[in-house]
Order: sequence, then structure tokens, then C-alpha cells
Amino acid sequence: MCMKEKLLRFMAGRYGMDQLNRFLSTAAMVLVIINLFVRSTLLWLLALAVLIYCYVRMLSRNLEKRRKENGRYLEIKSRLTNGLRNWRDRQKQKKDYCFFHCPACKAMLRVPRGAGRIRVTCRKCGNAFERKT
Ligand SMILES: [Zn+2]
Repeated sequence: MCMKEKLLRFMAGRYGMDQLNRFLSTAAMVLVIINLFVRSTLLWLLALAVLIYCYVRMLSRNLEKRRKENGRYLEIKSRLTNGLRNWRDRQKQKKDYCFFHCPACKAMLRVPRGAGRIRVTCRKCGNAFERKT
């Protein structure tokens, strides 16, 4: 039996790679590279822990649990990237628009800048309130 066959047999029924593991292995590598410069035992242990966690996930036979973890990771990642994109969009429009949260439902609202004191109706919950722009 050649090495490739042995490896395939070993990996059968195991979870393997996913987005979370790719992130973990990249994070471990980044920590190792940073540690080349700062030389901290704590950082090294953290990198090792991240790498071990990555391998434990990869070799795991509990596919359902690993899929759920990956789903949670993707959800958090998309929330962060959406938040960042929204923030960047607001920065671009800051000159022409005012942004604030609805006091009732906390939805982000946008109104034209320099319109004076206006009555704003939240599009999400219908709550009306006054704001100076
Ligand atoms: Zn609202």
C-alpha cells in the first residue's frame, strides 16, 4: 500500500478541511511569524494551541459538531465583514448624510445633512422622533 492510499484510508470518515480550519491554520502561522520577532512563550503556546485545535477538528469523526462550529464561524465572519462594509459606506456618505440609530429599535437611519430640525419616521418600526441634522 503506498503512502497516498494509507493517507486516504486514514482520513476516511474524518472531517478534513473547512473555512474555520483554513482560518485557524493561517492564524497559527501568523502567530508563529510574529513570534519570530517578539519571542514570547505565551504567543508560542497560543500558536501551538490554535494549531492543535485545527488538527483535532481536521481529524475529528464528529462531522455534525464540526459543521456547526464552521457555520458559527462563517456567521461571525459575515457579520464582521458586513459591519465593516457598512461603516466604510457611512464614511463615504458622511459629507451629505447624517447617520443615527432609531431610539426604539436601534436600526441605522440615514437623513440628508443640513435639513435643520426634522421629524424622522423609522422605516423598520415606524417610530417617529425629531432630530437636528
Ligand atoms: Zn425603529
